Amino acid sequence: MTDVRQHATEIQEQFSDHLDVTVDDVASRLDSLVNEYKVPMEEARRSVVSHYLDEAGLERDEIRSGGGTEDAQLADIDTDEEWLNVTAKVVDLWEPRSDAVGQVGLLGDESGTIKFTKWAKSDLPELEEGKVYSLGNVVTDEYQGNYSVKLNRTTTVEELDQEMEVGDDSEEVEGALVDIQSGSGLIKRCPHEDCTRVLQNGRCSEHGEVEGEFDLRIKGVVDDGVDVHEVIFDEEATEELTGISLDEAKQMAMDALDTTVVADEMREKTLGHYYRVAGPTMGRYLLVDEMETLSGPVDVEEALIKARSI
Ligand SMILES: [Zn+2]
Repeated sequence: MTDVRQHATEIQEQFSDHLDVTVDDVASRLDSLVNEYKVPMEEARRSVVSHYLDEAGLERDEIRSGGGTEDAQLADIDTDEEWLNVTAKVVDLWEPRSDAVGQVGLLGDESGTIKFTKWAKSDLPELEEGKVYSLGNVVTDEYQGNYSVKLNRTTTVEELDQEMEVGDDSEEVEGALVDIQSGSGLIKRCPHEDCTRVLQNGRCSEHGEVEGEFDLRIKGVVDDGVDVHEVIFDEEATEELTGISLDEAKQMAMDALDTTVVADEMREKTLGHYYRVAGPTMGRYLLVDEMETLSGPVDVEEALIKARSI
């Protein structure tokens, strides 16, 4: 098969559920761009896919990215933009905060839980809490290390008459806090509905310059002697860990005319101390919802050198 033909076949498969288009149609469009207009193949592909998206009235994330979809366990999901089939129970439904979202909540299977979003325009049946569904062709999404699945117009929903035991994917780590990463301390988040991205120099990567809202967070690294674990402390956990409240942090930053003093102070108070932390895992992060101070401090330099050598 020629290169053009191969790419045309893949594109045709992506649209086979939506458009009555043949491989020949796709190939002739690609061929013209690549061979007549000397457009690089990757760009030609993008352009041809855009054409068919327009024709089908679909968004890019509503078509299959190529290849068949595989069955997955929720706890194993660790890749962005992967198309998967899952069998899961609706553990919890939350209030959607945007009109674009039809339903949002938590799915669970034997391996653990994951957030799901069902687009309002997906035209899918309402999912009910406590029921088990076979969901075909969902797409994974990653945001700040947290994974979720999205139900879109191509997703198939089948209610199953079965019970499902939902696994607990929370984890416990015991070790020395050896690093507090950038983006920790007193941070500002985007105030836009459904956003909450952390601002960099007053800018949200999605919404540009915004008046941020203060929050406390620590992105830390705990070394248990064998492995290093990335852990996130939210405002409440950060206050418990450091003894510094959001109000105190704001005051410190105001006095110093500098927000970085907060993270510096937090480093001073915690680095090298031993903690036991526990909470659910989201991607590579453990989200701390329980903690205990064990002892400290140890020699941070030594622990750090060890952590880096892993
Ligand atoms: Zn934003």
